[in-house]
Amino acid sequence: MTPNELATQIQFFKDIGVDTLDVSASPSGRSCGDAADEGLSTPAVSTETLDTIRLDLGDCQRCKLAPMRTNIVFGSGNPHAELVFVGEAPGFDEDQQGLPFVGRAGQLLTKIIESIALKREDVYICNVLKCRPPDNRNPEPDEVSACNPFLRRQLAAIRPKVVCCLGTFAAQNVLQVAAPISKLRGKFFDMDGMRVIATFHPAYLLRSPEKKREVWEDMKQIRAELFRLRS
Ligand code: URA
Repeated sequence: MTPNELATQIQFFKDIGVDTLDVSASPSGRSCGDAADEGLSTPAVSTETLDTIRLDLGDCQRCKLAPMRTNIVFGSGNPHAELVFVGEAPGFDEDQQGLPFVGRAGQLLTKIIESIALKREDVYICNVLKCRPPDNRNPEPDEVSACNPFLRRQLAAIRPKVVCCLGTFAAQNVLQVAAPISKLRGKFFDMDGMRVIATFHPAYLLRSPEKKREVWEDMKQIRAELFRLRS
């Protein structure tokens, strides 16, 4: 880690109110996505790649969001990531750039990722919906039905060890449960050979910074789980 990265990380700890650091369980530094992973059954097997899934999505017209979007936001990052973050739907900045989590919430997500000694390019980031709902309204059931198969296929192609759902909407959709994020966050669920955990959405953290400490607890769990699954 460079001095700059270390400074960023320490600043994040300060921001979220962490006053003590446990440095005993540092990550192994192994690169993401080696094929012969042990300790976890593999998710639903897929012979697809992210590229073929993106090709199939094409200039998607499967739901009523299509005419309103500027760009499809398919996802970005390491196609062999051990850790995938799933958000809700693109916002204004994401729609403009065609990339997930590039606005203010995205900048905070980058800090959150770096807090466990990973970089954005180590992980994969995507959303349940690939197109921006107008005025950032909540996704509607027909939109979710049209998009959900693509998220499932992305996860099956990447086969991450851990999936982190950001916020209620992503958690409920990935886990197919109705409980609120306050009940779902902070514990692991098993799904198709992946360990799934939910935490608060970075946009919510911007409004409620006091919740950052709980996100830090969740991130430590993710770090420990990745460490455990690598050994
Ligand atoms: N919020 C999300 O849920 N996803 C994004 O890509 C950006 C903001």
